[in-house]
Amino acid sequence: MSASPIPTSSGQMDVLDPQDGSLVERIERYDARGMQQAIDRADAALSRARRMPVHERMRVLYDASDYVDRHRQAFADILAREGVKTINEARAEVARAVMTLRLSAEETRRIVGNTIAFDQRPGSENRFGYSRRIPVGLIGAITPFNDPLNLVAHKVGPAIAGGNAVIVKPHEATPLSAIKLLEAFHEAGIEEGILQVIPGYGRDAGDALVTDDRVRMISFTGGRETGERIMQRAGLKKFGMELGSNSPTLIMDDADLEQAIPAVVGGAIAAAGQNCLHVQRLLLHERIYDEARDRFIAGMKGIRYGDKYSEDMDMGPLIDEAAADRVEAAVEQAIADGARCLVGNERDGNFFAPTVLEQVPDNHPMVKDEIFGPVTSLHRFSDEDEAIEIANNVDYGLHAGVFTRDVDAAFRIADALECGGVMINDSSDYRLDAAPFGGVKGSGIGREGVGYVLNEMTEPKVYCFNIRFP
Ligand code: NAD
Repeated sequence: MSASPIPTSSGQMDVLDPQDGSLVERIERYDARGMQQAIDRADAALSRARRMPVHERMRVLYDASDYVDRHRQAFADILAREGVKTINEARAEVARAVMTLRLSAEETRRIVGNTIAFDQRPGSENRFGYSRRIPVGLIGAITPFNDPLNLVAHKVGPAIAGGNAVIVKPHEATPLSAIKLLEAFHEAGIEEGILQVIPGYGRDAGDALVTDDRVRMISFTGGRETGERIMQRAGLKKFGMELGSNSPTLIMDDADLEQAIPAVVGGAIAAAGQNCLHVQRLLLHERIYDEARDRFIAGMKGIRYGDKYSEDMDMGPLIDEAAADRVEAAVEQAIADGARCLVGNERDGNFFAPTVLEQVPDNHPMVKDEIFGPVTSLHRFSDEDEAIEIANNVDYGLHAGVFTRDVDAAFRIADALECGGVMINDSSDYRLDAAPFGGVKGSGIGREGVGYVLNEMTEPKVYCFNIRFP
């Protein structure tokens, strides 16, 4: 086991329930000094992380995933209490986290290099060699509040699969799911320095992780501005940057509205819109605009929001009062600038009603920026080209959705949309944890998705043998 001391906390922090501000738990808080101690500890454990054989990494990951699965109700309760999800949404996230860890275990044995034909260069006929993928080293994982378990699993699972040490700095509002996940890994017998969870604020604990030269990669999921600040502060490191978006979903005039409308309503209100794949912009062909709009409004009106512990609720609260203020102000500004509110724009504490806007002026912040709340703006288009132009006219590009029965149109549109993934006959809010996931433009750099991020969390090392033949 590591001889390095356990990091010392700098005080405590309160984890509050976003729904009513009540105290969920008071936990230890770490600042820059505590983070540096955690880095010392990880650094001391690194050589042992690298030497963990593949079968042992797989066993740890399978055991941790089984632990989460066995304790899924406890994980869901914690997730629902500290975060913005309803209990049903929390259960779904726990099931995904189990899958993410199992995928990480499975991918461990697929970390392979290749043989290299050194004899392609005259004079190198006696050389033979290959590459194998080696761990990056110490990885700093910085995570957001909206999926506080599965997005941590998406960093921790592949980091351990790749033979790295990893320190998680969870979001200050939602550290409990990550701490509970650490328990799963401790039960699985991982050395404590190889995986640590260090709760604290971004500006001190987070910054100390980002700026330390011993941290070789920052794997970040969060807001674009934070991501940009981190890249400016970090120096020479690898980056995985999973940032925000304002995803479009297009409904063409031949679409099956029975299929499309429930999907876009679900994508508009999941996690109360606090979701990087949130259906923020809904583009409707002019021939079906009125019908699709009316059905969408009816769907949004039918959303039950309130007590997130109730099995009957579809939607929970925003993360805190500042977030509710921000969403409310953005909607009011759009209305003041000429948008029409068709439903919603009602606030009760940190709850904000599902809200639909139309006639939002072109290039308005409501469509250019990320709202990160349950607000969707409608946009009318007359043909494929116009739909693509509207969809692409933003500086984000994570996912998009397209509803059409025309397979040629689907292919053309999907090809033209500037983003990391296009969901045909689904809303932008679909993700498979095994698929490559990430954005273009302001939505990020690199890809997650277990097998794909493993490429980022390992790097090829070349072994070349200059063989003497008799
Ligand atoms: P945020 O940027 O406020 O915080 C994310 C993390 O960064 C937190 O842990 C925070 O403490 C930390 N942080 C803040 N300042 C820091 C600093 N100076 N140095 C180091 N760390 C710092 O984001 P959020 O509000 O938690 O999450 C919402 C954002 O995350 C949205 O933009 C959303 O779209 C995005 N997101 C993206 C994905 C994706 O996979 N692309 C997934 C979920 C969320």
